[in-house]
Amino acid sequence: MRKILVTGGAGFIGSALCRYIIDNTDDEFCVVDKLTYAGHLESLGAIVGSPRCRFERLDICDRAEMQKIICEFAPDSIIHLAAESHVDRSIDDAGTFIKTNVEGTFNMLEAARKHFAALSEERARNFCFVHVSTDEVYGDLKNTNEYFVETTPYAPSSPYSASKAASDHLARAWWRTYGLPTIVTNCSNNYGPCQYPEKLIPLMVLNALEGKPLPIYGDGMQVRDWLYVEDHARALYLVSEKGRPGETYNIGGNNEMPNRDVVHAICDILDMRFPRKNGSSYREQITRVKDRPGHDARYAIDAAKIAKELGWHPRETFQSGIEKTVDWYLGNRDGWCRKVQENLYGRERLGLGGGQ
Ligand code: NAD
Repeated sequence: MRKILVTGGAGFIGSALCRYIIDNTDDEFCVVDKLTYAGHLESLGAIVGSPRCRFERLDICDRAEMQKIICEFAPDSIIHLAAESHVDRSIDDAGTFIKTNVEGTFNMLEAARKHFAALSEERARNFCFVHVSTDEVYGDLKNTNEYFVETTPYAPSSPYSASKAASDHLARAWWRTYGLPTIVTNCSNNYGPCQYPEKLIPLMVLNALEGKPLPIYGDGMQVRDWLYVEDHARALYLVSEKGRPGETYNIGGNNEMPNRDVVHAICDILDMRFPRKNGSSYREQITRVKDRPGHDARYAIDAAKIAKELGWHPRETFQSGIEKTVDWYLGNRDGWCRKVQENLYGRERLGLGGGQ
């Protein structure tokens, strides 16, 4: 039994991680989340009432509060997911991304360092700080035979990926300089339940059902490697348990696909499950919108290291994962989706989006 502090646990991936912990372990955990527009207690459901879960509405940019909660909860591991995560928003307002992703991570590392220094030798041996990051830090790939490996040089393109790259460097420096056992994970695009409907897949499902346009950036040929969120949650837990301090692990789904094909797959599933009244395909709602500035062409992950060292492999194929995902949104339209959509602000109100 471990005590785990999870930042960003009310977000998309964080809530999947909390569900994994509650369903598969006896661990106690403390969720620290500011509940920004992207964080929803509804995503945690009954977990918040569990005696094994403590919830703290806090901002990771508040160093004193972070120090206090880490000292009080005294975790064996910290899994740090809290971040601003949407590329399009980072283009509109980079400052929030620098503040939360860079300064917030700095605060977490400093608070963890103090906690680590006070641990007994035995607890210190098993302590780790998992910094959850993205494959977008590597920039994009031009050739179809290239893959991101853990040693691929960083070349971020957007304010979002640049802020995540900066925070990855901090996490590694805190290992090298202070001996804080940090581990960095760089993961490809996730999809699954409870993803805020500004990201490609939930936006397309909900727009389709509401009879709205399905906006695809440019020619829709940007390739992403898609990973079902439960596979990511399992990987993060495993890394926190068995990962080697100071190491980096790439996590990916072996599911490379252009955005256009992802949208077609969603339309085809909806055509079967929830046919349009006029009998035609949801594909008719697809529209092209002006491409995002600096849009990366292709991301592809080589996840051989985590497979070899930790025995992790994704369990879902894209087809099985996307069917589960569409079914989840269909089943939660009147619950989670309605609740979250009441609070929609900014881009989606303007009908923009379609990005990941
Ligand atoms: P998300 O936007 O759904 O959730 C982020 C969570 O962090 C929210 O609950 C939000 O309330 C919280 N948060 C934001 N600012 C905070 C602050 N200042 N203090 C405390 N809490 C704050 O994001 P996500 O998609 O779940 O991503 C989680 C992490 O995984 C991020 O670090 C992201 O960079 C990384 N990641 C995401 C993907 C993806 O495809 N979604 C892929 C790879 C890596």
